[in-house]
Amino acid sequence: MNKITIAGTGYAGLVTGVCLAEIGHSVICVDKESPKVEILKKGISTIYEPGLEEMLKRNLEAGRISFTASSSEGYKDAEIIIITVGTPKTIDGLLDLQYINQVSIEIGQSIVRPDVIIVTKSTVPAGTSEKIKGWIKSNLSQQLNFHMAANPEFLRQGSAIYDMFHGDRIIIGSESEYALNCLEDLYKPFGIPIMKTDTSSAELIKVAANAFLALKISYVNVLSNYCEQIGGNIEDVAAGMGMDNRIGLSFLNAGIGFGGSCLPKDTEALVNMAKKAGEPNKLLEEALHINRRQELRLFQKAKTRFSNLKGKRVAILGIAYKPDTDDVRESAAIKLARQLVQDEASVIAFDPVSIENAKVELGELISYTNSLNEALKGAELALIVTDWEEIKTINLNTFSELMKQPVVFDGRNCFQLDIVEKYPIEYHSIGRPSIF
Ligand code: NAD
Repeated sequence: MNKITIAGTGYAGLVTGVCLAEIGHSVICVDKESPKVEILKKGISTIYEPGLEEMLKRNLEAGRISFTASSSEGYKDAEIIIITVGTPKTIDGLLDLQYINQVSIEIGQSIVRPDVIIVTKSTVPAGTSEKIKGWIKSNLSQQLNFHMAANPEFLRQGSAIYDMFHGDRIIIGSESEYALNCLEDLYKPFGIPIMKTDTSSAELIKVAANAFLALKISYVNVLSNYCEQIGGNIEDVAAGMGMDNRIGLSFLNAGIGFGGSCLPKDTEALVNMAKKAGEPNKLLEEALHINRRQELRLFQKAKTRFSNLKGKRVAILGIAYKPDTDDVRESAAIKLARQLVQDEASVIAFDPVSIENAKVELGELISYTNSLNEALKGAELALIVTDWEEIKTINLNTFSELMKQPVVFDGRNCFQLDIVEKYPIEYHSIGRPSIF
């Protein structure tokens, strides 16, 4: 059992903290936002993530996890400190290290125990652990030895708990044998393959992996647009490609592109880091460019179909960037809504859990509902943006029963074409023939 402190209780930090408590460690989570800390202390999760709140409550009751807004209280007794503060995009498309810098200063000022291991789990450019080491060192209140390690996070929002216990790999990078061994012991109980490497390689693995996934998605999306021109079906094409083990089926779903807080940001960061290093990566630049176009694909299709969207009642189905999360960061729904409003359409958006987050982005520009039927009532066109289970399992008669005109643009290919054909709806999807 280790005394672990998590710095930052966002999506990555809260899940990590709760899961480490679940396997028996004594965990303190520090967050600078006191209201968030107060909510978490009551056992209420501040993010929507399946299974998280139950696990949080269980570990609070067992006394294995606690929350504080005080950095000195949080860090002073820790054996391992895991940094999970945000690294948002800078205006130059790089990863902003201001929160990392701030938390490093606070850690430096607070640690008193020798040989504490400081782990960077936040996604950072290669070389950041060295910077963190310097920031901590110059803020130490007494001479102390400590160890740096990089341990990037690969969890997927929506299945984060499952991923903690069943991920494909755990990457640990460090120049300290002691840190490598302690972290290997920490993660062994999860039963996931562990790879040990140097710090910079560990840091790079994370952004390189995310950028590769972005590349795969953009590749299939470009093909899907070509399929539409030749009357092909991207799902069959992708399935046929994916049956080749060297390619694999995952991340070959055509749609309206990738969003969320990680893929777009990390890919753009790698593009700009590589450019700065004199090794430009045109491949990734194009993947981002394709994605920006793809996010508005449903809008373009609707424009082509109706020529004028002014005054049309449009239902956006799903606001979250993917199902099972309330995260709307870089969600195509936000961009589509803005574009539709600019064209003077009247927009109502449905989402089961993301409305409050969407309001921060869109305010009163559109109306919102957590009822799928309410969104469809009287709509002249519907855009499916998030493949929520509730949307995928809708009775297809609902569209013709509730909509003024049942014209559906499906950005996630939720329905099989041979089934849609049996219903009185006009259906346009991605990379597949339309049904009239
Ligand atoms: P987030 O914005 O949801 O959470 C960050 C948290 O850190 C916030 O609660 C904030 O209040 C807190 N914080 C900021 N400064 C602090 C300080 N000085 N002391 C204590 N707390 C502080 O971010 P996130 O989505 O959890 O991402 C965190 C990092 O993990 C990022 O680098 C991200 O790229 C990476 N990551 C995220 C995911 C994901 O699914 N969200 C997956 C893999 C990696």
